[in-house]
Amino acid sequence: MNTPTLAVFKLASCDGCQLTVLDCEDELLTLAGRVRITHFLEASSAVRPGPYDVTLVEGSITTPADAERIRQIRAESRVLVAIGACATAGGIQALRNFGDVAEFASVVYARPDYIETLATSTAIADHVPVDFELRGCPIDRRQLLEVLTAFLAGRKPDLPDTSVCTE
Ligand code: SF4
Repeated sequence: MNTPTLAVFKLASCDGCQLTVLDCEDELLTLAGRVRITHFLEASSAVRPGPYDVTLVEGSITTPADAERIRQIRAESRVLVAIGACATAGGIQALRNFGDVAEFASVVYARPDYIETLATSTAIADHVPVDFELRGCPIDRRQLLEVLTAFLAGRKPDLPDTSVCTE
């Protein structure tokens, strides 16, 4: 049997949830015989192309490029898990949803015409089907380990209903 692969991707976010993944280093080493990390730029520049068995995605969708990227990631992932408030609810950057993004850009940037952005910051589930949403800002490391262990074992995570299995 092939060793399952794990990928971690980042969209619009602060990296805090990825740091929680890194903080699980000891446990990930324990899992190492059962999983191969093939894409995690926060930890290593050595990346392998998909498909991936389990993919964690941090961050929200804020640009047309993000929207295209998450469709590609979804197509390459057997199980897609959105991690953190950015990925599950749009994050603090979703404050833009209540204002005029063009006006914000004109105030912040000298050449706002160079800025390609969406009017909103939205959750990953608003764009592609998601298998599980792990909430928190940042995520809880014990819950993350339960999610990884469960999906690698082919079962649903056993977590309180603050996190949502979308099946
Ligand atoms: Fe950072 Fe919080 Fe977003 Fe995680 S959910 S990437 S900790 S802002």
